[in-house]
Order: sequence, then structure tokens, then C-alpha cells
Amino acid sequence: MPKKSSSILVVVSVCVCIGGGIWSLSSLNFRESTSNPTEVVTSQAATTAATPVETIPPTLAKKSFNDLLQQYGSIPLSDAHNHDASDSKYISMQNMWKRDAMDRVILFGDVSELSAIRTDAYAWDAYIERSDFFVPYFSGFDLHDPSSLEIVRNNLEQGYFGLGEIAAASYNSPVVSKVQWKAKDPMDGFLPKIYELCAEYQAPILIHIDPPNGFVIDKLEEALAAHPKTTFIFGHANAYNSPENIKQLLEKYDNIYMDFFAGFTVFNLESSNRIEDFLPLMKQFPDKFMLSTDSGFGLASEDAAIEAMYRVMDAIGDPALIKKVAYDNLDAILRNEPATKTQKEAILKKDAGRDVTKLTKLEAGKLLWGK
Ligand SMILES: [Zn+2]
Repeated sequence: MPKKSSSILVVVSVCVCIGGGIWSLSSLNFRESTSNPTEVVTSQAATTAATPVETIPPTLAKKSFNDLLQQYGSIPLSDAHNHDASDSKYISMQNMWKRDAMDRVILFGDVSELSAIRTDAYAWDAYIERSDFFVPYFSGFDLHDPSSLEIVRNNLEQGYFGLGEIAAASYNSPVVSKVQWKAKDPMDGFLPKIYELCAEYQAPILIHIDPPNGFVIDKLEEALAAHPKTTFIFGHANAYNSPENIKQLLEKYDNIYMDFFAGFTVFNLESSNRIEDFLPLMKQFPDKFMLSTDSGFGLASEDAAIEAMYRVMDAIGDPALIKKVAYDNLDAILRNEPATKTQKEAILKKDAGRDVTKLTKLEAGKLLWGK
């Protein structure tokens, strides 16, 4: 590492520590603007002058975002973790998703607080508008209150596909650590009963846990062992986390999946790992990873977060594995969810002759809301 680069790194880390916690990301990544997706690649000299050379993955210099879109755009791509129900941002995202060849978005809004009840409703609105594109999750319940069980059951019955993003523990994030309904650990409050409801509906639960080590992970392990039929998705598992930590969980438990926040590893200077560090793990556990944007949290833009997904695909290289990580792994979980009693009744009201016995939740949604 050249001397100049190390001093920049030191300065950056000091600023971050002073800034109040490892989750203070702001806009430390090197991309200033994403209005032109190719500019970062064409002005290599400018970016290397401003940032440590070591943080720029080699692929970045070779292919523009447009090149990547041409190469991988036809491969189905879903965003496993997206907050654009907040402020109904999803409405203004449609052009970007179209341009970036996004095929499915797991949509929710705020995290484990009162305002999430409203953003859960926005996610639902988006879904009934475009049931072929959006997959709504929800997080508007107080997991310390028994009423949470009724809300979870009702929402899953109604047709929501999963719970998320749920603050199962947060001590460092400047945003999530402050939410009023966060759990102190993944076994806190009514979470164990909520996990059982998830198992009953075969609905995944996307959880936020920070830091990704220490007693909160011990508690996560307790949850994974006690609820083997529940599908847990570890939100942005690669953020401030090592491949070794992730590997330990994957080796021990079959019911955990890893949401891979591509933009964090590809673009955020606070990532101490590069995409190459995670590739052996993705190859060892090809069915366990799914890509996400986290709506570009801490990055210059959501577009950059999507570009990072393509850069991860490019780094993976193997077409079969790309397909799994980009779409199929999460799709398999969603496909496994059966239609609910409420959905079947609604379908039979529209079409009394239809056989609904083996209907999935995805199919039910299309029958009820498909255009
Ligand atoms: Zn998130």
C-alpha cells in the first residue's frame, strides 16, 4: 500500500470514529454522482487521485455499468432488501429499475417503529399495483407487545410475503439503534412466537443485527436452533462483517440465508473486505446468498447500489451461480409460501370453480391483483 493511501485511510477511519459509530457512512464512497453511470470508469485518474487505489476493485476499471447491463441485463435480478416504501419513494424509482433491468423488488419502508405501519401500507399499495414486480414485507409491530402476534398473522394472511426489516438488535447503527420497537437481541420479546408464525406461513424474516458479533449473534444462534422451520435472512450480512463469521453460521444452520448488500462491499470504503473475499463462501453455499441494495444506504445513490449488484455478478463469473444469487435463491423461498385461507376465499369469490388447493402465495397475488 503506497504511503499516501494509508494516510488517507487513517484520516478516514479517524473521522468515522469521531462521527459516532461504525454505521456513520454518509457519503464516504468515491462516487460523487451517478447521473452518468459510465463516468466513474472513464475518469480513472480522477478517482485514483482522490481515493486509495486499493479500494477500487479491478473490475471497475474494465467495464462500465452500461457494459455490465449489456452483459447481464437479461439475467433475472431481484433486490432482496429495499426501503423504498418510505415516503413512497418507489413511485419515482420505476425508470431507474427499468433502465437497470431490475425484475423484482422486496419492498418495505421504515424499520420497527410506529411510522412503519404507514410504510407497510405503502408497500402493499405498490404490490397491488404491480404484483409481478413488488414483493411486500412489513415491520410495523411492537415486538414487545402481544398485539404484535395478531398484526403478524393478519398481515401474512392478507398476503404480505415476509417480515422485514426487523431490528432484532442494534447498538451501533445511527438509525436503527434509535427505533422505538427494536429488540435487544434476536430472542427478545415476542420474537420467538413471531418466528413460529413465520414458520406456519413459511414466510421469511429479514433481520437487522448489529454489531454482527458477540452476544447478539449467540442469541441469533439460539433462535436458529430453536426455530429450525423458520427462514431467517440476515440483513446486509456482509456489512461490517467478515466472511469467517458468515461461514460459521452457514456451516451450523440450514435455516439462515445471507442478504448480500453489494454496494457496501463494492463501493463503501468502510468495507474491510472485497468482493473476492466472499466468493469462496458463495461457491461453498451457492443456495444461501441473495443480492440487495438496501436502497443505497451510505452510498452516493440507489443507482450505485444496483450497479454494485452487477459488479458482484461479474466477479462471480459462473453463470449458474450468478443466476442463483441474483434471483433464484430468494425466488425459491417465495415460491414455497402457500396461499393463505384469506387469499383463497377472495379468489373463490371471483371464480368459484377454481382449484385453489395447491395455490402459492405468488400465484394468489397474481390472480387477485395481476393486471
Ligand atoms: Zn435496510
